[in-house]
Amino acid sequence: MTITTSTSTSSIGSAAPGANVQLIDVVKDYSGQRALDGVTLSINPGEFIALLGPSGCGKTTALRALSGLELVDGGHILIDGKDVVDVPVNKRDIGMVFQSYSLFPHLTAGENVEFGLRMRKVGAAERRRRAAETLELVGLDHHVGRYAHQLSGGQQQRVALARALVTKPRVLLLDEPLSALDAKVRVQLREEIRRIQTELSITTLFVTHDQEEALAIADRVAVMRAGNIEQVGTPEELYSKPATPFVAEFVGLTNRVTGVVSGGTVELLGQRLPLVQADAPDGEVRVYLRPEHITLSSSGIPATVVTSSFLGSHRRTNVRLEDGSVISLQHSARLVPAPGEAVHLELSGAPVTVGPS
Ligand code: ADP
Ligand code: MG
Repeated sequence: MTITTSTSTSSIGSAAPGANVQLIDVVKDYSGQRALDGVTLSINPGEFIALLGPSGCGKTTALRALSGLELVDGGHILIDGKDVVDVPVNKRDIGMVFQSYSLFPHLTAGENVEFGLRMRKVGAAERRRRAAETLELVGLDHHVGRYAHQLSGGQQQRVALARALVTKPRVLLLDEPLSALDAKVRVQLREEIRRIQTELSITTLFVTHDQEEALAIADRVAVMRAGNIEQVGTPEELYSKPATPFVAEFVGLTNRVTGVVSGGTVELLGQRLPLVQADAPDGEVRVYLRPEHITLSSSGIPATVVTSSFLGSHRRTNVRLEDGSVISLQHSARLVPAPGEAVHLELSGAPVTVGPS
């Protein structure tokens, strides 16, 4: 049996492999306000990193600094070991996709995609061929003649992706490219982006404020807060071993409960549990506990059901503890607790982290 691979992407796929990218201590001030406060991040060739953080933490600034759209006030930006802080944006070999509405409205999809090639003085026939091929890669070759207003939001973002990829850049930067789309298209398109990125093995930095999106597609996630990167790790590492309470709360659902650390364990709600960071100093702390580590039980911590929601494969139930605080737990959808019902809880897993009380 002969196995043939798709020829449609052969030329695009033959682009140079992704570059190694390093941000070292990058600082950016906007009229006295520090937007990037010493950002350090290393991205391996072909790696997909999600830059995750709340609005205003500096994600867009970091991306613009890397692309050259923004000059930095300190630090180094290395692409394959070469410092590019003084290299202009069009010489950095970077493709960019923005949040939305970035297509030229007076150009067709095909002409939008050809744009970067036109700037590079590529001949008409070659431009057309490469634009068609890249539109095929993003699944839009049949819409080459359409204008932005004749395309859905998701289709426009596919064209924007093709426009960024057609010059075969070695780094791809995406700034919340899915945030204007509805939930279903968002999930479809993020999987498409990941498929294409893997196929081209292009080094990618994907900005989002949506933790679910970041965990779902990235090789590693860099969590950003107030101009700094707080933790970089695989989705699993961030979820199970958040380095700080901020990461614990930003990534995944987390309960906060008061506890007391002593000798490498923590006592909370009358139970003693192991600690992920066994070196936490003794004393009162705030404990961060995942909902799936609290179970309904026939005896244990008394609580009263507040609400319970059906989520398909499982249920999430909020309960009020005797001290008045409310915590969330996750359990089998077969159990259906009623609001007002008296229940008991057991703690089954180690807290993901502890922080100052
Ligand atoms: P994010 O993309 O994470 O939402 P930004 O990088 O856009 O955050 O912004 C980081 C900080 O820098 C914010 O406080 C924002 O107000 C500020 N900022 C961004 N761009 C400018 C600008 N052109 N002039 C002044 N301040 C800016
Ligand atoms: Mg932004």
